[in-house]
Amino acid sequence: MKSLEPIVSLAKRRGFIFQSSEIYGGLSSCYDYGPLGVELKNNVKRMWWKAMVQDRDDVVGLDSAILMHPKTWEASGHVEGFTDPLVDCKVCKKRWRADHLLEAKGMKPDFRPGAWDKSVVCPSCGGELTDVRKFNLMFKTFMGAVEDDASQIYLRPETCQGIYVNFLNVQQSMRLKMPFGIAQVGKAFRNEITPGHFTFRTREFEQMEQQFFVAPGETGPYFEDWKARRMQWYLDLGIKKDHLRFRDHEGHELAHYAKAAADIEYLYPDQGFKELAGIHDRGNWDLSRHQEFSGQSLEYFDPEKGERYTPHIVETSDGADRATLAFLIDAYQEVEARSGDDDAKHEKEVVLRLHKQLAPIKAAILPLSKKEPLQQLAKDIQKTLRATWMTQYDETGSIGKRYRRQDETGTPFCVTVDFDSLEDKKVTVRDRDTMEQERVAVEELEAYIKEKMKV
Ligand SMILES: [Zn+2]
Repeated sequence: MKSLEPIVSLAKRRGFIFQSSEIYGGLSSCYDYGPLGVELKNNVKRMWWKAMVQDRDDVVGLDSAILMHPKTWEASGHVEGFTDPLVDCKVCKKRWRADHLLEAKGMKPDFRPGAWDKSVVCPSCGGELTDVRKFNLMFKTFMGAVEDDASQIYLRPETCQGIYVNFLNVQQSMRLKMPFGIAQVGKAFRNEITPGHFTFRTREFEQMEQQFFVAPGETGPYFEDWKARRMQWYLDLGIKKDHLRFRDHEGHELAHYAKAAADIEYLYPDQGFKELAGIHDRGNWDLSRHQEFSGQSLEYFDPEKGERYTPHIVETSDGADRATLAFLIDAYQEVEARSGDDDAKHEKEVVLRLHKQLAPIKAAILPLSKKEPLQQLAKDIQKTLRATWMTQYDETGSIGKRYRRQDETGTPFCVTVDFDSLEDKKVTVRDRDTMEQERVAVEELEAYIKEKMKV
């Protein structure tokens, strides 16, 4: 696979991801998750929450508001510094990222007024470019009935600020002792100039972030520990090892307050290794700034040491959309026709080898005929299984066609109910990956699948 086209096509055909507002021609770089996409993305978020909150004694959850006091974004530096340098073509009016144009020519960025090198022209038409303007990436909106500067607020460009401002609320209400973490999943918005590559970079997206608070001078080992844990999470959920790598940020890439930063990169078919997740040693910049701008203390009192200090932070930052896309890409496989779907004229079939915990539908229940006793037994089986898992009942088309549909959406287990089932009270379970078919007693089916789901 050299492009995302097979993924985009499957995503639409099978109800994973649609272009937003498609009937109106679509809204650029906004996407909607269809019935199977929402299940997959929910499973990604659920597995993240399990690893980050449920399985740990020292991390708690939070769900803070998207809209925050505008001072938040002054303190965070976003009002001043969250900008892209842009130039416009005076001839064809196309807009370009100034840093990208200079980078392509191997030139050093210099965005001071009047500093633009006139030899750099519009890549599209060769026209002269304007001076560099700074374009803020935050979406603005207004709160209340009056649209003036005083009522202007922002859609949050990152979720972590909601964690910082709640640091003491969470610490005190939960009586937490350092070190500890606060995790949150939620929407964020950035008015990117160059979004693209399907759901890789979108203007509305969902983050999965965790801030781990530690005593001054103690971030180093936690930074290394979280780096390893975040990488292992992707490996445990089935991403191939050679499709992942770390990239440590070099000195000049680091934000001025940051001590260290690393990306986990994924090998995307259309653009090579690109960022999938990040781990950052942020020092005490965030809490210090909020103390300065709010005038409120966010210091922690350590009862054992008898000391008061502003905690330092190791952040882990993952994108729910970006992770979902990576899992989809990595699970996608074209194989020789194997389902026995004779109607379709095809040599290749698609199997989505998603980790069982991520698969949108865990079990499909397929009665071999639409005759009443088979339907009834199949529906009874579904009723039992759906108490625990997402299931799908499908009685239309040949059994081969039904297997093929389930393979394409990554369903790990197909449960076929046939005429023998009425006599021996057993069904045939087909495993997506091994293609093995096992005869399992209806009574034991739930326990059988539960056991297989552990793998
Ligand atoms: Zn131009």
